[in-house]
Amino acid sequence: MESFQGIFLKQIPFKESSKIMHIYTDEGLKSVLIHGAKRLKSPFLASSDVLNEVICHTSGKDLLTLVDLSIVEHYDHIREDVIKTTFAQHICELVLHVADSSIDHKRLKPFLSKVLQRINTTDQAVLYVYMFELKLLYLLGLQPSLKQCLICQSSKDLTLSVLDGGARCETHLAHKETWSEELRQLASVLYYHDITNDITWTIDEGLISECRRFLDRYYEVYLNYRTKSRNVWMGLLGY
Ligand SMILES: [Zn+2]
Repeated sequence: MESFQGIFLKQIPFKESSKIMHIYTDEGLKSVLIHGAKRLKSPFLASSDVLNEVICHTSGKDLLTLVDLSIVEHYDHIREDVIKTTFAQHICELVLHVADSSIDHKRLKPFLSKVLQRINTTDQAVLYVYMFELKLLYLLGLQPSLKQCLICQSSKDLTLSVLDGGARCETHLAHKETWSEELRQLASVLYYHDITNDITWTIDEGLISECRRFLDRYYEVYLNYRTKSRNVWMGLLGY
């Protein structure tokens, strides 16, 4: 018997009534087969939903098979809000995309749980999503320089440039882009924000959508990746 705690990120139908769940733990991604999960009489019908944080008890070696399951967190407020659901799915897709890399799962897993808890309860969910994306770049070793020039470490007259890897001073700016100084400051604050503290400031819509475009572009250039949920997000919110 093997027991572990994690977050269900994805489900794959298996035969007629079963499914395989991909669960993200602090040891990385694991796959668990749940026999008869889609049957109405299954004790795991509701508890085996994507996004749930659970403790799994499993048997088997090559393919882990679920024996018992208890829910740690169900994220009710995310589930009843289509925008929060889209944000959470976006984050889960990002984690699935990087889960096979050499990323530090012991740091990413608890951070993912904390961000989902924040999204569940806050009115400022979008800022926690951006914070997650910035800190994920750090865990991948791909973080932008935000407070000082990447080349000379000067903190004067900085300009943000995706292609230049973040902030550059006037002398070292190679690729001129059109990001605002407010965006550089917002990204910097979010990047260094301690998630255990509340976000108390509000941000205007223009800056929220500029930050979205910046992160999209950054992920496109350095990870060559965009989530499917990002398109749903655009359809729902118009940015
Ligand atoms: Zn410089």
